[in-house]
Amino acid sequence: MTFATLGLIEPLLRSLEKLGYQTPTPVQAQAIPAVLAGRDLMAAAQTGTGKTAGFALPLLQLLAMEGPKVTANSVRALILVPTRELAEQVHESVRQYAENLPLRTYAVYGGVSINPQMMKLRGGVDLLVATPGRLLDLFRQNALKFNQLQTLVLDEADRMLDLGFSEELANIYRALPKKRQTLLFSATFSDDIRLLAGQMLNDPLSIEVSPRNVAANTVKQWVVTVDKKRKPELFVHLMRKNKWKQVLVFAKTRNGVDALVEKLQGLGVNADGIHGDKPQATRQRALDRFKLSEVQILVATDVAARGLDIEDLPLVVNFDLPIVAEYYIHRIGRTGRAGATGEAISLVCADEVNMLSAIEMLTRQTLKRQNEPDFEPEHRVPDTDASGQVIKKPKKPKKPKASGGGGKRNLGKWVDSGDTQAPEPSIKPVRKVPVFNTGPRKRKP
Ligand code: AMP
Repeated sequence: MTFATLGLIEPLLRSLEKLGYQTPTPVQAQAIPAVLAGRDLMAAAQTGTGKTAGFALPLLQLLAMEGPKVTANSVRALILVPTRELAEQVHESVRQYAENLPLRTYAVYGGVSINPQMMKLRGGVDLLVATPGRLLDLFRQNALKFNQLQTLVLDEADRMLDLGFSEELANIYRALPKKRQTLLFSATFSDDIRLLAGQMLNDPLSIEVSPRNVAANTVKQWVVTVDKKRKPELFVHLMRKNKWKQVLVFAKTRNGVDALVEKLQGLGVNADGIHGDKPQATRQRALDRFKLSEVQILVATDVAARGLDIEDLPLVVNFDLPIVAEYYIHRIGRTGRAGATGEAISLVCADEVNMLSAIEMLTRQTLKRQNEPDFEPEHRVPDTDASGQVIKKPKKPKKPKASGGGGKRNLGKWVDSGDTQAPEPSIKPVRKVPVFNTGPRKRKP
């Protein structure tokens, strides 16, 4: 099968040739003809499967071939994404695919001045990539109209709900024309996502390119158990021993990111960090430098790193396990992309045993444990398996901490009550969301 046999037009085929895409990925093979035929889509596709091209290519083709010229402040196709980085990344892909087409594309997101965005929108945009909050701001300031909108894409829909965007999505939904094509992409399908899909999609074609909630099988995963206080030391030891060159490291909190970056920089390691407290320009610069291998170790919180595409990333390290089990799949999806192999190592301490168990249950696998000599933990991490059972109770620590102890379990999402520091505000394992059919809620601060 080729892109030509899927019905793509010559200007797009030329762009793909330039990018070196030879064969459509499974999600592209299914999505492209369906979108060209005008169908709504509900796609379970993990990041790294080529889903961006799966929706962007046919969408660009429809915009180029059909419909009226875009008018002032209007937009003909809208792609909603959860984070600023993802908005930039998706727009960059769109820009490359659309190189030979006479279409105007643009990306808008928060954290940067709104005025240049308002100016740019004056002339109208064929395809707009946006984060939900900034999109609504622009709409409320009359910088955007949706009367010409023909297609809506929800990319990483699960993540948008996790980040608390359900109210923004409901408001956007109310402002859009009822007659439109809608494409929904999500790595995982919770009940909330299914509710959202039920309300937004019309007779959608369902596409599932990888088993639900199963981590990428091109990624070799294992766990090193260690005492919590020795994690930084173990990280440095493993980095030196294995001569790690380019590593994306996930820490749970902003302070955790800063502390590890400081330690590594103090040792002369070329490290940088990204989290929600840093200005957008700083985050983007750190990421760009990491992609160019100018930064060796990039330490990030979940909020800053979801959905990012980093070419040939060999290794992801979970310095802390994620507070939401599903984030583990997204984190390790940063490596082993587009058919390449990768490794994902998790440094796990006794406090995190319940999170480990939730991840093993979700991914239906028992993660292999590998002890590191001289780092065997004093506080043993009890055995776990894919059934979600913690097989043995941990030995009682000699001096129990005042607020320490196990987490609270809720549908695979975890809050470690022993945390002394709050996680990133926007990735708190938020509420079960009332998605669309409840009355107005108080706006987030
Ligand atoms: P995505 O899942 O959309 O983030 O894409 C993951 C990576 O795969 C990106 O770097 C794309 O440029 C690349 N990619 C997407 N489709 C293809 C294809 N058909 N052939 C080769 N690379 C691709």
